[in-house]
Amino acid sequence: MPFPSREATLPAMNEFELIEHYFRGWRGSHPDLILGQGDDCLIWHPRRATVMSIDTAVEGRHFPAQSSGAQAAQRAFLPALSDLAAMGAEPAFFTLALTLPGPMDDAWLDAFARRLSELSEHYGLVLAGGDTTSGPCRVISLQMHGLVDAPLRRDGVQPDDDLWVSGFPGRAAAALPSVLNPAQASAPVDWVAAYWSPEPRIELGQRLVGLASAAIDVSDGLAADCGHLARASGLNLLIETSMLPQAPSFQGYPEDQVGSWILSGGDDYELAFTAAPGQRDAITALAAMLNLPLTRIGRAQAGDGQVLIGHNGEAHTLSKTGFQHF
Ligand code: ADP
Ligand code: MG
Repeated sequence: MPFPSREATLPAMNEFELIEHYFRGWRGSHPDLILGQGDDCLIWHPRRATVMSIDTAVEGRHFPAQSSGAQAAQRAFLPALSDLAAMGAEPAFFTLALTLPGPMDDAWLDAFARRLSELSEHYGLVLAGGDTTSGPCRVISLQMHGLVDAPLRRDGVQPDDDLWVSGFPGRAAAALPSVLNPAQASAPVDWVAAYWSPEPRIELGQRLVGLASAAIDVSDGLAADCGHLARASGLNLLIETSMLPQAPSFQGYPEDQVGSWILSGGDDYELAFTAAPGQRDAITALAAMLNLPLTRIGRAQAGDGQVLIGHNGEAHTLSKTGFQHF
């Protein structure tokens, strides 16, 4: 383990002891990080453009209040990291602003720090600094920093581009009733995994640089997030329901329910992206190389920044399709 285990009998730590005990001495370094934790500021001297994103996860809102430390670490870290994937960036380092209520829960904090250290090592990010305070509930803010020469932006969609999505979106939303109320609802393991450990599409994002014209990670729902691409680019995006990728575990569920999971459910952190039709073969080859489904689900067309849902030969905005009752 990258840091020593603490005896539960030790007296309560002050803020500095806590930082020292749980958040120092993790593995990992980065050649552009001149100085990490320990001073008033970290020192970063990047040789390529740096993209940065901050995300806050609040107990009871972004992760259930009964979450274990490891679960909270996953629900805070993985969605935050997904923003780097959406820009096509190589992960570099992150900072952590942590608010904890008293009294100190050593077991929770130990599990949180261990999982965060494992995840940051796995994805190749250094914990380069942070802030630790007490407050009324647990709040985890993570600022992610990545490197990319030509970031994938939201405003790059071109007329007649294809619209694509990675993986099988919708499963995290389908899992929500069982996540919020495990005693009353059960869900297939792949749905529950999609919620608790979404996989940031880091390698896909980096490989889409030069192939894709625009990209976004799906946090709020496929239709809503494609709306951000459409608005930023000043074009419409048409999503054909018949082209949507359906998770095998959705088989047997009503079409309307599955449609609303896929189109309106958030939390999966798949990538939605656009690319010129000339890139279809390259994207299909990329899917095979990454062993990750990449599905063409529609196309860009002239318009004023809306998402249209094509269903049974007609195209409507989401609110008129009936796929809205999730
Ligand atoms: P200051 O009072 O100057 O802002 P702090 O006492 O907040 O400094 O932090 C001291 C050092 O510990 C800083 O280098 C800071 O980046 C680091 N640090 C504080 N909290 C954390 C944390 N949760 N994870 C990682 N590093 C942290
Ligand atoms: Mg200071």
